[in-house]
Amino acid sequence: MADSYAPVAFLVALKRGWRGLCPRCGEGALFGGFLKMRSHCPSCSLLLEPYRADDAPAYFTILLVGHIVVPLVLVLERYGNQPPLWFHALLWLPLSVLLALLLLPRIKGAVIALLWVHRVAAPKPSADGPDLSS
Ligand SMILES: [Zn+2]
Repeated sequence: MADSYAPVAFLVALKRGWRGLCPRCGEGALFGGFLKMRSHCPSCSLLLEPYRADDAPAYFTILLVGHIVVPLVLVLERYGNQPPLWFHALLWLPLSVLLALLLLPRIKGAVIALLWVHRVAAPKPSADGPDLSS
C-alpha cells in the first residue's frame, strides 16, 4: 500500500490510539460508537478493518482495573477498621465498572495503534480458503 504519510513514531501512534484517533493522521476518529471500529479513517482513509484487537483490550482492562482496585480493597481492609462486606460491594463494584468503562475504549484504541504501527493485520478471508462452516 502506498503511504504518503510520514512514518509515525511508536509512542505518537499509541497516544493517538489512546485518545481514540487514527494512529496515522491523528485526526479521524477510530470509533463510530462506544467500541465500534470504523472501517476506515474519515480523515486519511486508512483502512482500519484489518486491525482487529479481539480480546486484548478486555484482557488489559481487566488486568489494569484489578491492579488498581484490589490493592485499594486490601488497604481499606487493613487500615479502614475492617468495614462490612456490603460497604466493600457498594464502593468497589461501581468503581470497577466505571474504571473499566473509562479504560476499555482507550486501551482498545492503543491496541489498534500498536497493531497498525507493527502492521499486524488480520488475514483477508479467502474464497478458496478452508471451509470452516462444518
Ligand atoms: Zn487517519
